[in-house]
Amino acid sequence: MVRMMSVKPTVLKLGGSVITDKEKPLTPNLEAIERLATEISRAKVSSLILVHGGGSFGHPVAERHGIAGGFVDSSQILGFAETHLAMTLLNSWVMEALISRNIPAVEVHPSSCVVTKADRIHNMELKPLKKMLKMGFVPVLYGDAVLDSKKGFTILSGDQLVSSLAIKLGASRIIMGADVDGLYTADPKTNSSAQLIDHVTLEELKSLKHKIEGSKATDVTGGMLGKMREVTFAIEHNIETVIVNATKSGRVYKALKGEEVIGTIIEKG
Ligand code: ADP
Repeated sequence: MVRMMSVKPTVLKLGGSVITDKEKPLTPNLEAIERLATEISRAKVSSLILVHGGGSFGHPVAERHGIAGGFVDSSQILGFAETHLAMTLLNSWVMEALISRNIPAVEVHPSSCVVTKADRIHNMELKPLKKMLKMGFVPVLYGDAVLDSKKGFTILSGDQLVSSLAIKLGASRIIMGADVDGLYTADPKTNSSAQLIDHVTLEELKSLKHKIEGSKATDVTGGMLGKMREVTFAIEHNIETVIVNATKSGRVYKALKGEEVIGTIIEKG
């Protein structure tokens, strides 16, 4: 007997800055990984897809070999393999934490099921994912080195995967687990007067971005800017999106349960 699921899935992203020590190469933050696995297990979401970032695993190796720039010379081929290996090492810590807490997690390697075209997802094999969700598995994907029909290969971010999976699999909501409380008026790590925005519409987000591009005030930068760009695609499909601080105990749990939580809700408006 199998349990068939027909509820709309939730997509949860665990940021690379949360699950690794970004200062030390190839170092997982096991305390965070284990706590988050416990929160996920306690929340008992009926249909869940997990995506995690690369942090100090994927990024340094990919950078050393210029993977995101595409194929230039054959020495990068081994670099691609090394980047993917680094990501599978991080992924295996996550998988072990999940499965030991009775979460039926199965990793789905993006390098084997996605081809991008000029950095954007072009082909993705969805059949196994759909079948897994129906049967109650929790598919786990991550930012990875992938083949690209224009560039040879590239880096596919966990953030692009999140919005693309949410749209293609008809998700009801996205939870972005970051290392800050949500979207701020400026980078909270470098600007002490930055204020948390608890609620924002796409329209307001666009005007926020305008400020950046007009370079009057560099409000949303770095990783958060990329995240906002990606989730915009999903929000346009009416997928409710919330950013919470996954480094703080209980925030991901509350978001998964649909309880009130400190964070930023982004809506179509
Ligand atoms: P992850 O690796 O977890 O996916 P990133 O480190 O790539 O996340 O991006 C999140 C970072 O973006 C935050 O730690 C923060 O320093 C930075 N950031 C820049 N601008 C903002 C902003 N306006 N609001 C929130 N975070 C911001």
